[in-house]
Amino acid sequence: MQPPAERFQGQSAEEQLRKLAMVVEQSPSSIIITNTEPTIEYVNQAFLDATGYSADEVIGKNPSILNQGLTSPETYADLWATLARGEIWKGEFRNTRKDGTPYLEMATIAPIRESDGEITHYVAIKSDITDLRRSQSRVHELANYDDLTGLANRSSLTVCVEQAAASCRQSGRYGMLIVLDVDGFKTINDRHGYQSGDELLKSIADRLKEMLDDGAAIGRIGGNRFAIVVENLSRKRDRAIAQAHDLTEFIHDELKSPHHIVLARHPIRLSNTMGAALITPLTEQAQRLLNQAEIALQRAREDARNSWCFFNPAMQSLIESQSELEGELHKALEKDQLALFCQSQFDADGRLTGAEGMVRWRHSERGDISPEQFIPLAEETGQILPIGAWVLEAACSKLQEWSQNPLTADLQLAVNVSARQFHQPNFLQILLEALYRFDISPGRLKLELTETVVLKDIEQTEQRMLAIRDLGIGLALDDFGTGFSSLSYLKNLPFDTLKIDRSFVSDMVSTQSSAAIVQATIAMGHALGLTVIAEGVESHEEWNMLKQFDCDAFQGYLFARPQAADQWMPTHFQVQESIQNPRSG
Ligand code: C2E
Ligand code: MG
Ligand code: MG
Repeated sequence: MQPPAERFQGQSAEEQLRKLAMVVEQSPSSIIITNTEPTIEYVNQAFLDATGYSADEVIGKNPSILNQGLTSPETYADLWATLARGEIWKGEFRNTRKDGTPYLEMATIAPIRESDGEITHYVAIKSDITDLRRSQSRVHELANYDDLTGLANRSSLTVCVEQAAASCRQSGRYGMLIVLDVDGFKTINDRHGYQSGDELLKSIADRLKEMLDDGAAIGRIGGNRFAIVVENLSRKRDRAIAQAHDLTEFIHDELKSPHHIVLARHPIRLSNTMGAALITPLTEQAQRLLNQAEIALQRAREDARNSWCFFNPAMQSLIESQSELEGELHKALEKDQLALFCQSQFDADGRLTGAEGMVRWRHSERGDISPEQFIPLAEETGQILPIGAWVLEAACSKLQEWSQNPLTADLQLAVNVSARQFHQPNFLQILLEALYRFDISPGRLKLELTETVVLKDIEQTEQRMLAIRDLGIGLALDDFGTGFSSLSYLKNLPFDTLKIDRSFVSDMVSTQSSAAIVQATIAMGHALGLTVIAEGVESHEEWNMLKQFDCDAFQGYLFARPQAADQWMPTHFQVQESIQNPRSG
């Protein structure tokens, strides 16, 4: 090692010493020099500031004066073993200040040797890392735990699943992953406010912690979505599934009893839906298992009778075929595989009044695919926007063609518009452009909206509907009766037509309550000044009953099936002689 004098330039020995002393004294790190006993021979100002001791209180004492037993004996053993080998030790001490407050120090302790190599002293340079460590652990918490509930977040829960899978491989015991959604959480938030919503989530987290033993990992992996990892189920699959069943039932019931939230005026009751997937010795990817549990959750949600569902591989193949379909749907437009179909609509005398346009996907290998299969998929992926635009254009082009023929010039054509399409920012613009480009009278076009469209953003919906009505375009509420609160929409939104869902029509003849609903709906529609049309009319019996109830218009297989728009013909419906028409009779 180079003597310090050679690294000071042109200074006297005294000057050099004074400078070194000043540097040590004023260093922002605590510096302690001890002899080999070790007793403290020197401490700098930073040490006094950090510990709260005066120099008199520590000089001549053992540095262990700072240790009140929080630092492990192993740390000291390692420290002395390192120093005894003449090496530098680095580590952390959990020390205590004079006033009793604990703090965490990062220390470097080095032996000091005389020129003959003998160790005569030790020097410790230490800095307080309490705040640093606190913020590091906060960062760790933020990265791994959900701030609101203190439960694991999605990423650390994924780690828990991986660990559970590893222990399952070792022990041969099954485990389970449950994904749980709080039903109707948005409504709870809307009704009681966000703070109550937050309180409720905390209450659910607390309840889950209470009811599950320490062996279970619990996480919040989304707004109102929780996940639970359970290990150590049976080694036998059937038994493990039975245990899983019991546990989910238990959790479901426990969460149902009222939650007392300070800010909410009444105790809040809620239900929940769960999807579960078995952790098996073959489980490899945590993410895949999470997907499986979420698929099962989705399935449970679709099945109104069950509050939970176990994943099975058939569900996976359904998802896979859906994603295959999704990929192909991208190309459907490019490959010109979409087609417009028209289904005629009639008045009570069987006179043609117009048609509903419906899209079909003419798949090259799978044949025609129903919109019921691909429209929801297109909604999810956003492909509904180009598809919807295509349908609107095809319908407008058809209307232009109709306008040139006296037989069809007065007919109306309805198009179905889905939620995402209706709510896209430039929807009005798209409508206007189509009307202008095909030069059609707005009154010939009608839009069919379902309750999901209307439900989304009621204020925007109302404004947009008013603007559409002002353009002169008709608005029909499709599938009426299948939603929840259709009445209030009908009253407040500018619909001109109400379409009774075909499920009521098909039940009407055999079920009195359905008939009563249809009759009341027609009367109510008329009271609100709406035209009422029944869809899915398949028999004369249904038609006659609907006419008795004073229904205005009709659509269904009885009259005409949907037909490719280019083959569609404007034909009136021939009432069979033997069937009496109550209006004309
Ligand atoms: P929707 O608008 O209620 O259309 C009526 C559906 O009932 C059509 O099925 C039609 O073929 C079927 N239908 C008509 N008459 C009868 C009948 O007498 N009996 C029975 N059992 N069914 C009948 P489709 O074409 O499969 O359409 C299903 C749904 O897909 C439509 O229900 C509509 O919600 C949606 N959809 C169809 N085309 C489009 C479209 O271009 N855009 C959007 N966004 N959705 C569409
Ligand atoms: Mg429709
Ligand atoms: Mg419908």
